[in-house]
Amino acid sequence: MFVNSVIARTGQSWKLWLAIVLMVIGSFAPLWEGFRIDWTLGTILVVVGYAFGVWFITCPSCGNRWFWSAALDATLYGPLFKASACPSCKQDFPSRPG
Ligand SMILES: [Zn+2]
Repeated sequence: MFVNSVIARTGQSWKLWLAIVLMVIGSFAPLWEGFRIDWTLGTILVVVGYAFGVWFITCPSCGNRWFWSAALDATLYGPLFKASACPSCKQDFPSRPG
């Protein structure tokens, strides 16, 4: 998934996945008592997951926080998942083996 995106090409897919997993757990785990996660903890997980993705997924070239930029300008989400270049500095990243 997103293998040719600038996120994958800069080796940051795991950060995106971690952010998504935290947000999904925080959103849905409180619905089932078995998880022992209440809405307070769930909300914290969502906020932490979101903040993690926004803060740590950055351009290795110019340091732009891609998801922060995308939060301010939603048209940037497309390029982040499809393009191989940084939407800020236009640095093009080579695809990674594997
Ligand atoms: Zn950049």
